[in-house]
Amino acid sequence: MQCVVCAAVPLKLRRYILPISDTIIQDQRQTETTTFDTNHVRQIRLIFDSTDKELNDLSSALTSLCRAHTVVLQWVPSHCNILGNEAADTLAKEGTTKDQNDRSTTFKEAKTIIKAKQHKKWLQQHPHYNKNDAFHLLTRSEQVLIFRLRTGHNRMNHHLFTKFRIGQSDQCPCQTGSMTTEHLLQTCPLHDGLRSQIWAEATTVQGKLYGSLDDLQRTATFARRTGVSI
Ligand SMILES: [Zn+2]
Repeated sequence: MQCVVCAAVPLKLRRYILPISDTIIQDQRQTETTTFDTNHVRQIRLIFDSTDKELNDLSSALTSLCRAHTVVLQWVPSHCNILGNEAADTLAKEGTTKDQNDRSTTFKEAKTIIKAKQHKKWLQQHPHYNKNDAFHLLTRSEQVLIFRLRTGHNRMNHHLFTKFRIGQSDQCPCQTGSMTTEHLLQTCPLHDGLRSQIWAEATTVQGKLYGSLDDLQRTATFARRTGVSI
């Protein structure tokens, strides 16, 4: 059995595999099974699967070796003072400090890079965004209600009539005003009883829509219990 310890990254594998595969293939006295001890089995498999032309020589060397010998990839733990493996790790570390090859970016990589950049940009544009704020602690259905009430993009008469000319008018069925978020939450006489049950004290629209978790939950409960389609 010929035991070879390979490098930690494909480019470093070249340093080990190319000379070794040549020797093994040319030397008829070598045994027929070749074992690569590695803690990076996946990276050796990637060489076979890769469409990267830079790795063609490695892929060819390994393929030739496979034709002449039984090649076994054997996993070994890293950093256990296995001589060749430690050398490979050292080379891999050296490699990270050198200029990288100018390789074309895959679609998947490009997508990841663009997504990360856009996310960073969005966070810069929304400095007050906090995924742990009261809104994000609501249930999904509560978030939908609060979002619709905050933005005014909802199914209440004011929005439907003024934006889409749906319905007869923007008026609330109580006929005392346009059916907006503020009207529903603050003044609609149809819901006075429910309103005083939910809010014992006068509360501003701002507080009801942007207050604490308790404030938002009360608003969502109120909106649901009015039976109004929001
Ligand atoms: Zn009303």
